[in-house]
Amino acid sequence: MGSAKAFLEINRQEAGYRPIHDRIHDFGEVEQTLNSRERKLQASRCMDCGVPFCHWACPLGNKAPEWNAALARGDWELAYRRLSATNPFPEFTGRICPALCEKACVLNRFNHQPTTNREDEAAITEMAFQEGFVVPNTDIVRNGRSVAIVGAGPAGLAAAHALNRMGFSVTVLDKNEAAGGLLRYGIPNFKLNKAIIDRRIRLLQAEGIAFRLGEAVAPDAIATQLARQHDAVIVATGTPTARDLAIPGRHLGGVHLALEMLAQQNRVLAGMEFDAAQRVSARGKDVLVIGGGDTGSDCIGTAHRQGCRSVTQIEIMPRPVEGPDDPHNPWPNYPRTLKTTSSHEEGCTRRWNINTLEFLGADGKLTGVRVQEVEWQPAPGGGRPAMVAKGEPFVIKAELCLLAMGFLKPEHPSYPANVVVCGDAASGASLVVRAMASGLDAARRIHHLTSK
Ligand SMILES: Cc1cc2nc3c(=O)[nH]c(=O)nc-3n(C[C@H](O)[C@H](O)[C@H](O)COP(=O)(O)OP(=O)(O)OC[C@H]3O[C@@H](n4cnc5c(N)ncnc54)[C@H](O)[C@@H]3O)c2cc1C
Ligand code: SF4
Repeated sequence: MGSAKAFLEINRQEAGYRPIHDRIHDFGEVEQTLNSRERKLQASRCMDCGVPFCHWACPLGNKAPEWNAALARGDWELAYRRLSATNPFPEFTGRICPALCEKACVLNRFNHQPTTNREDEAAITEMAFQEGFVVPNTDIVRNGRSVAIVGAGPAGLAAAHALNRMGFSVTVLDKNEAAGGLLRYGIPNFKLNKAIIDRRIRLLQAEGIAFRLGEAVAPDAIATQLARQHDAVIVATGTPTARDLAIPGRHLGGVHLALEMLAQQNRVLAGMEFDAAQRVSARGKDVLVIGGGDTGSDCIGTAHRQGCRSVTQIEIMPRPVEGPDDPHNPWPNYPRTLKTTSSHEEGCTRRWNINTLEFLGADGKLTGVRVQEVEWQPAPGGGRPAMVAKGEPFVIKAELCLLAMGFLKPEHPSYPANVVVCGDAASGASLVVRAMASGLDAARRIHHLTSK
């Protein structure tokens, strides 16, 4: 603990975002950083609670009180060691984790000013890289066993890191041309700069992990070839199928799944070229985003940077409650309150209780979307409320429509006993921190399985 009374004397201070007029013209990270003095003061606010709910809430079991105490004292190296003991890639969570720990922080219950754990993580990790505390471990003693990992997203990478350190020979295969999964081909650069992923992949390679990229592996090849060639296999293939909208006009040019735009934009920023017919661009267009979640929000920020004329986001479910507290999901649980992201702040019309009926077009191209306001009536005997149409349908003008309605939970064949499924591939679409925790758990299971 930094100082016994710091939480009474120092307010929570977030670094905040770059000004909108500045950030809207580029894909650089929007979040700013505090200076070291301010960062240490923030860390000193941690009360080192007897029952640290932050630790309970973090899927990785991150020991926030321990690294906050070291950070408050200015011992950045110890802070990094404590942080990286439970979190293999704190530079990712430090940027894009929704920080379940902060919502569970006792200070959040006390005065809605929780510790700044997520930003502290990012600061500790960047300092650790800058000061040379993060070096590859090249003294790993090999145990003679090998493992193949299919999927180089956060789940597969976390499993690879842990198994490699245990002495396994690890090969990671991915169908994409670069590693990172949705970190690289989903989350926009303005939330996570891809050089941060490259830096970590170089470390994993230096520690001996082999990457075979641009290689799609079918489930039957996992079950037969890979499971025979290796002592164990991990399937960390995420949720490849997005939820679609089978309504009239779906074939029109200008209607796309969110990831078609987001992944392509990240590839363009990585130097890949697409011809005009392939390019999904919001330039000069009115954009409609269907789906009120985080993927939709990422579409909004991307549309702004591509030079759209306007963005509207619609959601079929009702508007969430205003925060900070969620009466249906009280502290220390994560509140399901209205979330306004940096992308929303950049300009967007948001509407809830809107159902989508039809895509309208001319000459094969989208011109608008016919929608209908709805209300949700409680089912008499409990259960799922019934959706009831309200008023007359109306048209939202749009030349680009992005479907951001979530992903289907994948089904897997019955794999041999030495194959473990983890991350989003096992749970359905979730969070980076949960995918990493699941990857570490899969690594422990494989260690146990192959040690018998
Ligand atoms: C647009 C968007 C924004 C998001 N933003 C956030 C955020 O801000 N914070 C947060 O915590 N979470 C966020 N998420 C969720 C988060 O990205 C995922 O929960 C997480 O990446 C899941 O990790 P994973 O490793 O299980 O799967 P993925 O990241 O999906 O990785 C799976 C990998 O498997 C590979 N693969 C699939 N099939 C095959 C095959 N047959 N052969 C070889 N390789 C294959 C894929 O190419 C991919 O690289 C976001 C998701 C999206 C879509
Ligand atoms: S990984 Fe996320 S939940 Fe865990 S301590 Fe970091 S910010 Fe909090």
